[in-house]
Amino acid sequence: MPITAPVPVARLRTKDAFALPEAPDDHLVIRAIQAHPTAGTRLIINAHGKGAPLTMHPEEPVLPIRMLRTFELTCALCPSRARRVLDLVLHGTPHAWVCQACS
Ligand SMILES: [Zn+2]
Repeated sequence: MPITAPVPVARLRTKDAFALPEAPDDHLVIRAIQAHPTAGTRLIINAHGKGAPLTMHPEEPVLPIRMLRTFELTCALCPSRARRVLDLVLHGTPHAWVCQACS
């Protein structure tokens, strides 16, 4: 299932693209995301195109634009395995996969 709703910022990783709800057309690409050194419940996000880093609560909702993830898939019908890079925003998490030999 593609992601069509806001996600908590804690789900984002380096290289993901997102937008803040108040600026949906301003696409930000994450350069680095890390725990705040002193305010432990906060995240510091360095994004391309943003001069100053953003400090956000991990549960704060953001609009996901691109979330590429590598999945190790096992064929539903045989032991074949494959590694696929999928965009969670476009494709969601894969549930079942069938290899070429079986399809
Ligand atoms: Zn197979």
